[in-house]
Amino acid sequence: MKLNLLDLNPTELKEYVTSLGFPAFRAKQIYEWLMKGVWSFNEMTNVPVAMRDVLEENSSVGLLKIRQKLQSEIDDTCKYIFCLEDGCIIESVLMKYKYGYSICISSQAGCRMGCKFCASSDIPFSRSLSAGEMLAQILTVNRDKNIKIGHIVIMGIGEPLDNYENVIKFLRNVGEPLGVNISYRKISLSTCGVVPGIYRLAEENIPITLSISLHNPFDDQRSLIMPINRKYNLDKLLEACNSYIVKSGRRITFEYAMISGVNDSSEHAEKLSARLRGMLCHVNLIPMNKVSGKSFERSHKRSIEQFSQILEKSGISVTVRRELGRDINAACGQLRKQHVETETTESN
Ligand code: SAH
Repeated sequence: MKLNLLDLNPTELKEYVTSLGFPAFRAKQIYEWLMKGVWSFNEMTNVPVAMRDVLEENSSVGLLKIRQKLQSEIDDTCKYIFCLEDGCIIESVLMKYKYGYSICISSQAGCRMGCKFCASSDIPFSRSLSAGEMLAQILTVNRDKNIKIGHIVIMGIGEPLDNYENVIKFLRNVGEPLGVNISYRKISLSTCGVVPGIYRLAEENIPITLSISLHNPFDDQRSLIMPINRKYNLDKLLEACNSYIVKSGRRITFEYAMISGVNDSSEHAEKLSARLRGMLCHVNLIPMNKVSGKSFERSHKRSIEQFSQILEKSGISVTVRRELGRDINAACGQLRKQHVETETTESN
């Protein structure tokens, strides 16, 4: 694969441009085009044609193509299905909040973690995304909608801490003042609990919000729905979380998908409260999204309320996540699943 210019920060781009024998100021022009979401050298009209040809030969920005776009009719949520240069399919979801636009991006094409309730677990893992491919999701949507996204959640397809180096590179590039310019405080990264990655992240001095997908406070039950728990159990995970909190001074968010009859009893709530007591944290209860072909069902509204009350009484900060884009299947991995499955059927 050719060098992807979007993987470079402005300093690296300058070095690259001068190494090809062109003046350094051209790098700034190119960077500006890239940040506008322009993926074709031909469109870079203030760059001399001869230079465009050299760039074309040596590098690439042909990153994402919008394959499908689904606009919600009930809120401003818009889901994008992207096709990468090599044909891999990923998805991103744009959400509109009072404070502005937020995007949920994918970090891998597929996922190796195998969480039983997640749509991404059914489709074979293709590969990890490069830093540039993560950035391109934001830039493409900015251009397509003519907006400036202000918040990022790395909560789409993939396990970000299973693609550690590229995710860190992406996080460092996203803060570039002349680029996307989104500060770390407006970024969340969600992990199913890759413990070594949490310790590493704590050392990076990147003050993003860390979200942990917890989903069950009992080890044996968590292992059944989240295989990662067999490698790093809850004690190890929460120890890593505590260490992260001490090191970063940041509150951690625990994601808890409410699955009927699986993890939504009062015993679960009590045990969760006991485990989290005294921690600088917040719990986000997510009414589970039904995934086609899976038997898991969403908890009843009353169970969610009761669960939430038990946590509150224990002094744990808790919210129930508002659902966006329900009419467009905006939940994690579902559209990609549909796409990949259709393609597989068609090619059979
Ligand atoms: N791999 C990372 C990020 C991607 S998943 C992680 O596990 O955190 C993003 C979030 O969606 C996780 O909290 C995940 O557990 C949750 N999730 C996956 N499938 C879901 C479903 N069907 N309903 C509700 N939440 C789901």
